[in-house]
Order: sequence, then structure tokens, then C-alpha cells
Amino acid sequence: MADEGQRLDPQDWTAFSQEMHDLLDTCLTRMQSARDLPWQPKPADMRDGVALRDIAGSTPTAKVFDRISDEIMPYATGNTHPRFFGWVHGTGTPVAVGAEMVAATMNSNCGGRDHGAAEVERAVIDWLCRTADMPQDAFGILTSGTSQATILAMSAARRRKFGADVLKNGIRAYPDIRVYVADGGHSCIAKALEVLGYGSESLTKIPVLNSGQMDMDRLKETIAQDRANGLEPLAVVGTAGSVNLGYFDPLDDLASYCKAEGIWFHVDAAFGFWALLADAPWCDLAKGIGQADSIACDLHKWMSVPYDCGACLISDRDLHRATFTARPSYLASQDAGLAGGDLWFCDYGLELSRGFKALKVWTVVQTIGTDALGAYVTDNCKQAALMGQLAAGSEVLDLARPVVSNVCCFWPKAGDPDKIAATLQLSGDAVFSTTLVDGKPCLRAAIVNHRCTQDDIRLAIAAVEREVRAAI
Ligand SMILES: *Cc1c(COP(=O)(O)O)cnc(C)c1O
Repeated sequence: MADEGQRLDPQDWTAFSQEMHDLLDTCLTRMQSARDLPWQPKPADMRDGVALRDIAGSTPTAKVFDRISDEIMPYATGNTHPRFFGWVHGTGTPVAVGAEMVAATMNSNCGGRDHGAAEVERAVIDWLCRTADMPQDAFGILTSGTSQATILAMSAARRRKFGADVLKNGIRAYPDIRVYVADGGHSCIAKALEVLGYGSESLTKIPVLNSGQMDMDRLKETIAQDRANGLEPLAVVGTAGSVNLGYFDPLDDLASYCKAEGIWFHVDAAFGFWALLADAPWCDLAKGIGQADSIACDLHKWMSVPYDCGACLISDRDLHRATFTARPSYLASQDAGLAGGDLWFCDYGLELSRGFKALKVWTVVQTIGTDALGAYVTDNCKQAALMGQLAAGSEVLDLARPVVSNVCCFWPKAGDPDKIAATLQLSGDAVFSTTLVDGKPCLRAAIVNHRCTQDDIRLAIAAVEREVRAAI
């Protein structure tokens, strides 16, 4: 064992440097070979934890790095592969590995205090707000994802509705609330209302029109009725990119209505936010998003920033800060020194200690550029449209709904969709997930994959057709 003050650092930096370079080479080789590395099931001894459980000894670094490379790295989620279309999983980017290495090297705590990392986050938030076309004084914070961002946004909505005292008194002292979202809205909204103490019953689902958009007339009727019954509308949630079908609510109309009614307008734009960077017609889908009081979006889905990273953007920066500033004296800001500065991100969210997520975003956006990022969003929408055409034209598939963005759902005419999805996952052909449309199970592709090509779409559909025919 090494001496005091040297216990955790490498004893031989030269040897360690070589081990790190070897590990980096292994990582780069893996990323370069992504096309040959679909998801594969983990081995049995990994499954029950036996193989990895004994970690309390002191094993040489080279040996541990070898175990990482051989026993862990091969069993990733598979979303780095070009035919991974399951759920909505971003692909990641090689250049972000460099940023992640530097972030770990700096080991910054981005909860507060005066240092460079906070400025990088400020720059990223500023870019996000400008991309959304939010007002000048909008601000925000990077989060672990849209789920976390939704909790922050609903907290800010509550702070605006009931004032500062709600932070002291809790929700008991105030009328019951309702939040409205179109059918097909994401489960993270109900979850946010659960943790805020309102319960998922306070979420009202509004039916959608044939276009898949929220029925505005039904929304207005429901809100009028609720108000007449003494309920307080806390927020309307617009969806930009619904999880099942990739549909977008009429954000412009929702924004005007909410403004006129004095209701907080939140947009769940987990992946749909990035339609803003695409070519027409897709860039028009998210039109009006900048008028929202709050937006939740992800960088780890489209944008392919490695997990995890999302953002909560709020149009009223002072209100946002007033929702979360509660610093005790040991965390007080000073005029000068490390405790100086007025940009403490712990004042904009729930976490006091936070990692340096901003660096990987700043690096990806700057190196790759918004043109190439937008082109890949456009590619994915075209690929989903192609998949829709192939499904509609297939003898053994039925397209479930018209494709509007990057999501395509279809029913096989024979066989069980779950079984077909599992077979194709295990064979390495493609990863589809499954969902229900009209209550009927279907295969679903949500394409946020920068490695995918139109040929991959054709291959994947051919593989599905093969399995459906086998089931006839
Ligand atoms: C993925 C997703 C979420 C949840 O985002 P996380 O980053 O996984 O927390 C919310 N809404 C929609 C539409 C999504 O696709």
C-alpha cells in the first residue's frame, strides 16, 4: 500500500500512462467498429452478478482495464449500432469521449462557486435558449434528462402560481391543481406530479384529433369545467415529439391560449426540440416552442451527446432562481475568491453537487456544428418516412399511422410483435421496440441514430418481413 498523501494516485505514472493509452485505443476501436457490434445478451455469470461482485481487493490497473474491455464493454445497450431503433436512444459521439476525459480530469463540482466550468454551462444554456428562440432573459440548467427537467419546470410553475410561501407551506395550504397533456404524453409528467405531492390523478389527458395533435376545443372545455369546480390549472404540457408516434402538438396555438388564460405552458420536447435544426418541413413542427414558459429537452437522444444530459429551460430567469435558491450560510457567495460569482447552478435545480455535463455538449456542438447536427436530424426523418413507405407497401406489414417525424409504428400481419422484436435483437439484425397503437401491439422504430442509412432501413424492414413470413 502507498504512503499517506499518495494512496490513490498511480505509483508509476509512466506505466499508468501506457495503460490509459491502451484503454483509449480499445475505446476508439470499438467506436470505429460500431457497425459490426450490435447488442448482444450478457453472459449468464454476469446476469446473476457472480462474475463482477468481488471488487474489494486491490487489483492492478491493467488487469481491471482488461476486465472492463473484455467483460463489460461488449455488453452495452447497443444504441451505438446503426440499426438500433428501439425506444429513443441516442448513439453517442467519439469526440465527446475526449470531453468526458477532461471533465473527469478537472473533477469540477458544477453546483456552485466561481470557476470555468460554470461558464461553459452558461454558454450551452445560452445556445439552447437561442435555438428555441426564447426571450432574452430566459435561462436554464442541464439535467440528467427530460424526466428531471420536468420536475424542475413543474416546480417553477407552482412557484409562479402560489408564490414564495408554497415553498414554506407545502401544497396543503393551496387549492388542488390540474395539469393537462394530450393522450400519448410521456409518463415523466405524471411522475413529476407524483413527487411534487399532487399525485398522478392531477394529470388530465386530453384526447387527440386524427392529426395526432391535442384537441384544443376539448382542452378549453375541460379547463373551464375544472375552474368552475374550484380546481386550479397549473400547467398545460405541449408535446413536441410524442414518444409513441413522434407527433407534435400545435405549439403556437397552445402558447397563445395559455398566455391569454394565465396558465403556465410547458413543452416536453425530449427529442422533438431538435426538429428545430432540421430542413423543412420538419423544422416547422416545433414552431412556436420559444413562447413556452418552460421547455424540457434531451441532448442524449438526438444530438448524440453521451448519456446522460438533458436540459430545463425557463423563460423567466428570476422566477427560476426564486424556485430553488435556499442556500444556508456555509454556502453563501462571497465578493471575491472561489466562493464569488453569482452563477451558482445549485440555485436553478435540486442538486447541490453536480458533474460537468456541459463540456461534452459544448464540445459536440462546436466540433460537429449545427449544420451537420441538423442534417442528421433531417436524415433520420427521411429514414422514418422511408420505413413508413416500405411498411405501407409491404404485403406482410400494416403502417399504424402516418409518419410525421422520426417515429414509425407498424403491425405485422402475422406473429407476435414482442417475439419478432426479440428475435431480431438476438440475431443482431436490428433493434425495434414495441408499443400499443389503437390498443394493438406493434413494432416501433424511433430513429435518432447518426450512423443509420437508408440501406439500414431497407435491411431492417427486410428482416422484419422475413420473421413475419416465417410466422404465417
Ligand atoms: C425520453 C422522453 C422523456 C424522458 O426523458 P429522459 O431523458 O429519459 O428522462 C420524456 N418525454 C419524451 C417525449 C421522451 O421521449
